[in-house]
Amino acid sequence: SSFEELGLPKAINDGLLAMNFKKPSKVQEKALPLMLSNPPTNMIAQSQSGTGKTAAFVLTVLSRVDLTKPKQPQALLLAPSRELARQIQGVILTIGQFCENLIVEAAIPGSISRETGVQASIVVGTPGTVIDLIRRRQFDISQLKVLVIDEADNMLDQQGLGEQCVRVKGLLPKTIQILLFSATFPDKVMQYAERYAPNANQMKL
Ligand code: AMP
Repeated sequence: SSFEELGLPKAINDGLLAMNFKKPSKVQEKALPLMLSNPPTNMIAQSQSGTGKTAAFVLTVLSRVDLTKPKQPQALLLAPSRELARQIQGVILTIGQFCENLIVEAAIPGSISRETGVQASIVVGTPGTVIDLIRRRQFDISQLKVLVIDEADNMLDQQGLGEQCVRVKGLLPKTIQILLFSATFPDKVMQYAERYAPNANQMKL
């Protein structure tokens, strides 16, 4: 199978070419058609790092944002650490390098201007900072269409982070598409995951 079959916008295909991604990895081949389908459905995907999982959810996010509204937040990605949030931001900017007006901000401590607040279509952050920004009304979450949680085993299991992830979700539009990615889903985490992302397609690689 090929990336062309997915019907991604040309700018995204150009980004994949520039990165020399010639064909979808296993997880991309299996998960992308489900994640890109309309109406959007939730996904719980178990996939080790190194399998191309980051690009799988990044391609979904890039396909779903409307860049004619570049400063309107439309996708939120949550990660357990600042470093991982920065890394994901980098992947979005690289795959999206030909997407005009793409703005991606990291919602990590000290990175969002207190004067302007969030001014991006895609936000990658850690849960605590995201909650702070929402509380201060510096992050308009009313138009968010996709929520991605990376390293869901860490995010949904640990008390602090899990509670914060639940709190964030409670504030978001009820129709948001939720994508959970993790290398492992121990039974207890899978229970949380199924509650967090109801009626999700589940896949394991
Ligand atoms: P990840 O699973 O997100 O840690 O990604 C593992 C590595 O695979 C990264 O270095 C990506 O740049 C690379 N990668 C992801 N998708 C593809 C693809 N379709 N073709 C070639 N390399 C890829």
